[in-house]
Amino acid sequence: MKVDKARSPVSVAEAVFRVVEKACFTGKESVTLAESYGRILAEPLTAAHDVPHFTRSPYDGFAIRSADSAGASGQQRISFTVVDHIGAGEVSAVKIGAFQAVRLMTGAALPEGADAVVMFEQAVEGDGTFTIRKAFEPLENLSLQGEDMKAGETVIPSGSYINPGTVALLATFGYSSVQVAKRPVVGILSTGTELLDVASPLEPGKIRNSNGPMIAAQLARMGIPYKIYDSAADRLEESLLTVQKALSETDCLITTGGVSVGDYDYLPEIYKRLQADVLFNKVAMRPGSVTTVAVAGDSYLFGLSGNPSACFTGFELFVRPALLKMMGAEKIYLPRTAAVLAEDFAKANPFTRFIRAVHNRTTVRPAGFNKSNAVSSIAKGNSLLVLPGGTRGFTAGDKVDVLLLGVEEGSEEWVL
Ligand code: AMP
Ligand code: MG
Repeated sequence: MKVDKARSPVSVAEAVFRVVEKACFTGKESVTLAESYGRILAEPLTAAHDVPHFTRSPYDGFAIRSADSAGASGQQRISFTVVDHIGAGEVSAVKIGAFQAVRLMTGAALPEGADAVVMFEQAVEGDGTFTIRKAFEPLENLSLQGEDMKAGETVIPSGSYINPGTVALLATFGYSSVQVAKRPVVGILSTGTELLDVASPLEPGKIRNSNGPMIAAQLARMGIPYKIYDSAADRLEESLLTVQKALSETDCLITTGGVSVGDYDYLPEIYKRLQADVLFNKVAMRPGSVTTVAVAGDSYLFGLSGNPSACFTGFELFVRPALLKMMGAEKIYLPRTAAVLAEDFAKANPFTRFIRAVHNRTTVRPAGFNKSNAVSSIAKGNSLLVLPGGTRGFTAGDKVDVLLLGVEEGSEEWVL
């Protein structure tokens, strides 16, 4: 007879809070610039110099002294003599004088004496000369030193996700290597006597393990390395040994199945044997109310439900922010948006529902077969539609929250 059948649920927000609070920092490592995309920056990115570090032309045209253009008009065109010609990467040796100009291309450094650029389209060219029909302001048509970033400025804080733009910044400032957070190595252990591996033919009463490969893909989507353990049958001693082995070889362990109150659900007993600190073992959510998170030493034990939709949701809601927090990331939560429910959802539930859904600009609708054991709707969805718990159902036109999946950069705050 099990003693903990009556579990008391915590709210999703409380569960998320309890999980991320326990995150242990994975530490830093140095990677090459080419390897840095997708990692979490572990040092602030400070501008080592002004960008651009010299004033340059943003156009193909002619550098002039703006004072010489005073009074130019259609009736009274002013003529300039071209005294030099440079492209990007070149610096003119000439200091321009009155009514002189240097022909220069986009990106070329502004020659000494010049303080404005006449675009080709603003000039009528002659032989070694051109005329203009308007006066130019000082600094007109220039890309000024430091206009993008100033030396010493913190451009990107530590804990930021390195996106392609961050890679461009790192290159700008000459980082051939960069300090990033180490990625945790995550173990995946599917439990259930009914599980067959993917290559096995079906047998009566058995199913193929789809959660293990799904979790591996969810980790891969985050760029996190993993180690897959052979599925464990529902036998306590064997499972305990596998969990212990996995914990010794990884930074945290995700299990699926066996976490409920059924006769062959051994994860609760395994947590007890490991003397793990169980953060919660019931969450006021559907699917996945049995989702359990425990901590043993420095390691998380994520006990996700075996039901595929619940397993998927448990990963996105709890595992994802925890792993990001371990890496010191700032934006650890799924980004949220608001949308209009496109169809009725009549069934009320006291627990908050997270429904695999298709979000399309302003609307959202359930992605298909909606039970916690559904596999199809996971594949068809691009988001989780959030329906708060309560006594009423929802109707088309209701404004609802949506959590977006597969977005590289998350949100800094848990907003539900
Ligand atoms: P459990 O959480 O162990 O009670 O399992 C709940 C349901 O999910 C059962 O119908 C299981 O057969 C199914 N299930 C458990 N593990 C997996 C898995 N790895 N892949 C697909 N379905 C699973
Ligand atoms: Mg099971």
